[in-house]
Amino acid sequence: MAWNLPDELSNVIVTGKSGAGKQPRIEVLVDEFDLEQLSTGNIFRKYLGKFDNFDYDDNLDEFWDGEDFIPDNEIAEKLGTEDESVILGMKAKYFVEQGLFVPDRITNQLFKSYFEERGCSGQVLDGYPRTLSQSKFLLELVEEKDTAIDFVVWVENSDDLIIERTTKRRICPECDKVYHLKYDPPTEDNKCKECDVEVIQRSDDTEGKIRSRLQEFKDKTIPALKYLKEKGIPIAKVPGHLEEFTPENVKRSVMEEIEKLY
Ligand SMILES: [Zn+2]
Repeated sequence: MAWNLPDELSNVIVTGKSGAGKQPRIEVLVDEFDLEQLSTGNIFRKYLGKFDNFDYDDNLDEFWDGEDFIPDNEIAEKLGTEDESVILGMKAKYFVEQGLFVPDRITNQLFKSYFEERGCSGQVLDGYPRTLSQSKFLLELVEEKDTAIDFVVWVENSDDLIIERTTKRRICPECDKVYHLKYDPPTEDNKCKECDVEVIQRSDDTEGKIRSRLQEFKDKTIPALKYLKEKGIPIAKVPGHLEEFTPENVKRSVMEEIEKLY
């Protein structure tokens, strides 16, 4: 089926509650528009990994002056490297190792560095922006880089369905295969069909944790999306739940909604 859509896009955002079903929709965009997925999860893994590989064992408090990080040139001197990704990795690690949220200004720096590395275009942003200040930063950045955000795809799903889907999810600790107690169950004695190992529930998949992620989406991400809309970025809402979940249906449900924007 031919869609009445531009051949080339600059960048697209995919958003939705955690567990809404973003990944299959991201894959549609990647395939149809020849884009690359840029996930915040990967960004954090990359920079934290850069710093971990750097093998610095001393206390990170020496980079913090009580209110903020010391200037980058002083950090570089203490670390003995000017590699920006190691310095960024240290800043993220400083918060992660204390079990704190990485503040937006650091997340923004990590995002910027990775986005630039990818050439500032052809990206499907996944997990970013998640807050109002990230949205503001992103729009300034795309303007500075003379690129654009074409639209947002918002994958909608109800809290009840998300809770049903995620609390019944089980994973094989051996091969990472994902099961669902109702839709795709493991063996009768709760084992992976491939490995014969007992499947487990991820610690993130408990109802309390899911509810707090859902609340965070309402409190922080919805204002971020409202801001983008006010600034003229169109939003296509696509259903996260389909009666018949087939690749064709997923694709059609995404492309139809995007087409309405043009
Ligand atoms: Zn397995």
